[in-house]
Amino acid sequence: MPELVDSISCPKCGGPLRLATGEVIVTCPYCGTASRIRGDKPFLLRHGMLAARLDRAGAEAAIAGWMAGGVMKPDDLRKASRVTSLECVYVPFFVFEVDATTSYAGVITRTGTNERRSGSLVRDYFWKILGRRSGEFPTREYKLPLAHKVPFDTAGMVPGSRFMNAEMDEEEAARLVREQVEAHQRELLKDLVDVVEEARTSIDVKDAEFLHAPIWFATYAYRETSYGLVIDAASGEVVRGEIPPPTGGFGEFLRGATRGLLGR
Ligand SMILES: [Zn+2]
Repeated sequence: MPELVDSISCPKCGGPLRLATGEVIVTCPYCGTASRIRGDKPFLLRHGMLAARLDRAGAEAAIAGWMAGGVMKPDDLRKASRVTSLECVYVPFFVFEVDATTSYAGVITRTGTNERRSGSLVRDYFWKILGRRSGEFPTREYKLPLAHKVPFDTAGMVPGSRFMNAEMDEEEAARLVREQVEAHQRELLKDLVDVVEEARTSIDVKDAEFLHAPIWFATYAYRETSYGLVIDAASGEVVRGEIPPPTGGFGEFLRGATRGLLGR
């Protein structure tokens, strides 16, 4: 359990809010209002959530399906494993809709001749920033399924689940999104020119939203070792699954590879 450092009231309904060290945006468990803890500015972002399609039974089925399929898994994974914990947590994200334009000039050397190039790289993104600093979450592998977005409503949460408060506010998240989008645009430039001589990126944040995404976190035991699984409760996809090292030698490897090729 996180240490509770403070006890304050919800600015909307007056309900008691509990928050842990480092949390700055707190969601009221009674009315669902998200509010900023420090400073006197109100928290202004739209607050959404993703509708969950996997309840507990659905998550258990997804785990069983993951264990039974795919490549490079021990043959007896499903039979010999036992789920030791399974919890649905609503994880906070900031989602920004941004237009990015990078004006660049550089040289192409890959053709053997030094050819000058200049132009504009124009992209638009839905970019997500995890609202937590601590703990491990596979943010890169996780594709926020925005099609499942609904307004935040505690009544719509998976029974027995909990939500996490955010450890950064929208201003800090906006700074991060600018840094990350600029770095990403720089990466894309590598396809266009080999030597970048000049690059200026302008980023226009068109929309920003605070979103809680339901994620099932599971651990399972296989041959006395514990492994983790992260499942997107909105899309039903396994975001990350730890696979025990294979034990069955080449036979198991080849069967696994065949299964993978057949797409089963
Ligand atoms: Zn409230």
